[in-house]
Amino acid sequence: MQKIIPEDAACFVVMDLEWNQRASRPNRAMPHEIIEIGAVKLDRDLRLLDEQQYIIKPKIYPVLDKHIREVTGIEPEELENGVSFPRAFSAFLKWCGPGARLCTWGPDDYPVLLRNARFYERDLPLEPPLNLQLVYAHLLTDKPGVQVGLSTAMEALGMEMDLPAHRALNDALYTARLMARLRAALEEAPEEKLAALRSAVADEALAARSATRAVQTHFTHYDDALADKSLTSVPCPVCGGETKLTVPWFDAGHGRYMALCDCPEHGTAYAQMHFKRLYNDKLAMNQRVYLATPERAADVLARRAAASEAQARGPRRPRRPRKEGNA
Ligand SMILES: [Zn+2]
Repeated sequence: MQKIIPEDAACFVVMDLEWNQRASRPNRAMPHEIIEIGAVKLDRDLRLLDEQQYIIKPKIYPVLDKHIREVTGIEPEELENGVSFPRAFSAFLKWCGPGARLCTWGPDDYPVLLRNARFYERDLPLEPPLNLQLVYAHLLTDKPGVQVGLSTAMEALGMEMDLPAHRALNDALYTARLMARLRAALEEAPEEKLAALRSAVADEALAARSATRAVQTHFTHYDDALADKSLTSVPCPVCGGETKLTVPWFDAGHGRYMALCDCPEHGTAYAQMHFKRLYNDKLAMNQRVYLATPERAADVLARRAAASEAQARGPRRPRRPRKEGNA
């Protein structure tokens, strides 16, 4: 069976990104604009081969967010001297080389990289990363779903943090050091933990390539929005083609709706949707869809069974009253 840290990778590239954003009126095509890529390259034995740092001059959000400036220690003048994203991206890919296996701490970097690449109409030829945070949570905590911060994990393992925090390159270096510790833990992990981790890694790789859709509706009522086929139809996350709902949308609680659908070519996909109330009282819809692992599909079926059981237990007070006169 393929190891969690594969033995056939040409090299490992541990990547960390910093990005800029704007709290008000963000650009919907690019909510997070990458301003720094930090990366270290490791050989198959996880020995350090090289390190790289790319500073990117922002184009969409030229003003560095105050909070991000504080957390990252990046100065606006540094960004002024940065290069464009397409240039940094090309240089980064070339530096990674063919067959590189990406690794990150946390699930967020890859989707942001993908979105920035798409914004500039570039392909991202690297597969979704191995999220080492996921490995850590499964092997070294008793809460596999928890997202532990890099510094917390290092502290828990008694590792020294001797570099200035939160610069992308330094975080990549720390993550690389942690990776060596995690590889040792993987060697000793019991098979049932490894099985759960493998399934979580597979699910996250699919989720990293999920298609998202955000639509501002003209509806104020959930029922009306849910009746609109243009909102509730689900495009295939791979080909964008029409799918057939095999488990129609249901309320999974906490305002989250779930569904399973089927593309004739690409198989079962998992879709989730939630609504947000806008300043003008209208609803905005957010949808996310990605190919489903068998575990994910089984989980959705179990949740639907639980939801319909709860409904059968008797009428609850309606949480979302319709407009007066409709009741
Ligand atoms: Zn498809």
